[in-house]
Order: sequence, then structure tokens, then C-alpha cells
Amino acid sequence: MERLVDTLGRPIRDLRVSVTDRCNFRCVYCMPKEVFGRDHAFLPRAELLTFEEIERLARLLAGLGVEKIRITGGEPLVRRDVETLVAMLAGIPGLDLTLTTNGALLAQKAQALRDAGLDRITVSLDSLDDATFRAMNDVDFPVARVLAGIDAARVAGLDPVKVNVVVKRGVNDDGVVTMARAFRGTGVVVRFIEYMDVGHTNGWRLDDVVPAAEVVAASDEEYPLEPVEPGYRGEVASRWRYRDGSGEIGVISSVTQPFCSDCTRARLSADGKLYTCLFAVRGHDLRALLRGGASDEELTAALREIWGARTDRYSELRSAETAGLEKVEMSYIGG
Ligand code: SAM
Repeated sequence: MERLVDTLGRPIRDLRVSVTDRCNFRCVYCMPKEVFGRDHAFLPRAELLTFEEIERLARLLAGLGVEKIRITGGEPLVRRDVETLVAMLAGIPGLDLTLTTNGALLAQKAQALRDAGLDRITVSLDSLDDATFRAMNDVDFPVARVLAGIDAARVAGLDPVKVNVVVKRGVNDDGVVTMARAFRGTGVVVRFIEYMDVGHTNGWRLDDVVPAAEVVAASDEEYPLEPVEPGYRGEVASRWRYRDGSGEIGVISSVTQPFCSDCTRARLSADGKLYTCLFAVRGHDLRALLRGGASDEELTAALREIWGARTDRYSELRSAETAGLEKVEMSYIGG
């Protein structure tokens, strides 16, 4: 198999596929209601890549070195029959297949996703405090139903289940230790994420970021931790295990310790644009090629050219000025 690398020697290894730009939550830091209100124009259905188009691109990218695919969005479980796509992607040999969800529909979908061939799953849950969580998702969605989804995923055999917590200063940072405690010893891996300046609608300020080191220190004080070696080059989270053997947590420090030099991720938006950085302004229109009748060879040549020219390292260049730049929204490009 070919190993495609970019201008900085970084291979393409992970693909995140956004299957919809819609979501059933309105998390204040991601899809605030003022911007994504009733009259917001989401992508019309005809503009979304079909499952066949996604599978074709995934297969070609697997031939260029992609080993892991994460289905995301928007909220991927609101895309009708998403388990059919899972089954199609599971047919590509050698892929690690996972999905990121807010968990709202997971209790009813977990078994079908597992049966279709999903290997593991990440559930976003920012707080165990019901009032805080309802305020953060801004659709009054209760914690208990996400926890039911997490349980269903474990019962279905999705392994491991990871829980993503975006930590925002003064909003949910007081719940970090509670979160670690709740999942300690359960096999569920909690990962605390620094709040990032993605998109331009969330009014990001550096003061809102809780550095990952602070999260580790708070957890360590209650339950002593030790670092775990990264599993592979480009692993997003730095991992810490409880010294008493009761599991591990991860922290994703994309603001305080950027990891661009090891970034092996490409993102495919729901309408078929390939982005080589979460903070990119523009994507490469693969749908036009697909629907224009390009052959597999032509598509592969385009993919080689896009990745081969890649220079992105936004998080290493981040500054007060870059925060205000025009950027695509995470709900569109895929988290
Ligand atoms: N709807 C799915 C979900 O909730 O996981 C998938 C898409 S969502 C955009 C993916 C992840 O991005 C979630 O864990 C979300 O909390 C995180 N996220 C969104 N905006 C973020 C930001 N500004 N900084 C850090 N993480 C963010």
C-alpha cells in the first residue's frame, strides 16, 4: 500500500467523515441557537454525499494509507440509516471504524451500529450535573438519557466507549473530578478536551480555555495518575492511567500544546469537500469530481495532489489574531 505524506512528512492516516451538518443539540459553544436557529439554511439533501460516494472515497483513501475512519457530524445518528453506511465502510479491509455522537439516539441505535460492524464509539457528555448539561446542550436534554446510551453501547460490545468532555472555564470545569470518578473502574475512558476556537460563531476567548495540565492536576490530586506512552504517532489525546489500575483518562490539549506536527487527519464534509485542517478556510470539492464522472485513477490523483501539498499547522500558529479569522464551523466539517 502507498504511504502518502504531506510537505511536512505527515502521512494520511485518519479520515473523519461528516454525514450531516444537522444536529439535535444546540451546544452553546458549537451550534449556538442565535446562529443555528429555526431559519438556518442547512445543506439540502441532494448536496449531501450518498453512502456510495462516501464509501468510494473511503476505499480510495484506504489505498493511500488511511487506517481509521470516524463518522461524525453534525450529529451522525440523525442521518437516516447511518448503520447502512457503517456496514459499507466495515467492508473495507483493515479499517478501524468508530463514530462520535452526542448520545441522544444511542440507546436505540447502539446494537444496530455494532451489528453493522462499528468497532467502538465516542460519546460527548460535558457534565453529569443535569442543570449544567441541559444549559450546555441548550435543548434541555437530560444527562440520564445520554448515560442510557453509553450503557447500551457497552452492552452492545462497542469497545472501548470513550466519553468526550469539552471543558469551559466557569461553565463545567467544577465537574472534572466528578466525571473522572463516575467512570473510574468502568472501562469507559473519559477524555477532557480544551475548548477550541473552531468556527467563528462561538465567541471564543483564551480565558475560557481550561488548560489540560490543570485537569490532570485536579484528577491526580484525588486519584493519583501516571502518564501512558502514546499508542501510535499522531494520537490526539495524551493518556494518563490511575496508579491503582482502575483505568485511564485522556486530555486533548489542542490549544496549550498543539500537536500539528503529528497531525495525520483529513476531514470530509457532508457535501464532499476535503479539509486538511480543522481550522481550514476552504475545502477541496471532491463531490464535483465524483459527480463529474471521474475515474478511480483521477480521484486518487486528486487526493495525492491535495495531501501532497498540505502545509497546515494552524494550532501551532494560533494567536490573538488567528482567533478572529474566517473558518468553517465544526458542525459542518465534522468534529
Ligand atoms: N454531534 C456529535 C457529538 O456531539 O459528538 C459529533 C460532532 S461534535 C462537533 C464533535 C465533538 O466536537 C464533540 O465532542 C463536541 O463537544 C466537540 N466540540 C465542538 N465544538 C468544540 C470547540 N469549540 N472546542 C472543542 N471541542 C468542540
